[in-house]
Amino acid sequence: MDAPFSTPVLEGWFTLDQREPHLLGARCASCGTYYFPKAIKFCRHPDCAGETFEEVRLSRQGRIWSYTNAVYKPPEPYVANEPFVPYAIAAVELEKERMIVLGQVAAGIGVDSLRVGMEVELALEPLDDGKLCWKWRPAQP
Ligand SMILES: [Zn+2]
Repeated sequence: MDAPFSTPVLEGWFTLDQREPHLLGARCASCGTYYFPKAIKFCRHPDCAGETFEEVRLSRQGRIWSYTNAVYKPPEPYVANEPFVPYAIAAVELEKERMIVLGQVAAGIGVDSLRVGMEVELALEPLDDGKLCWKWRPAQP
């Protein structure tokens, strides 16, 4: 049971703390703009020539900005079980970072239980290939 939960789908994109996982982003040392994913060589802010970034943990909670239903199996290299089980995808706005981060919604939570503006939080769940990925789920009170 332990092994699948220790292998992230992408190395270095998020912390592996099961209780309070964080996405790992970058913040421009000159203007403070946040980026995710963190791999960035120069700041994209039009008024900034920054080339120095620090790794930061992004906010664990945000609000749903938009969402949709993935009813078709994604192409390779995505590994999906047969039969394919549809899942929801949410675009989540992080207020402090002023950015939108896409992610699957946690297993068992369909679009019927989502709405724009809803508070969600980051969780880690294995994908069909057993590798750990970040997902959004309704915020726990
Ligand atoms: Zn900058």
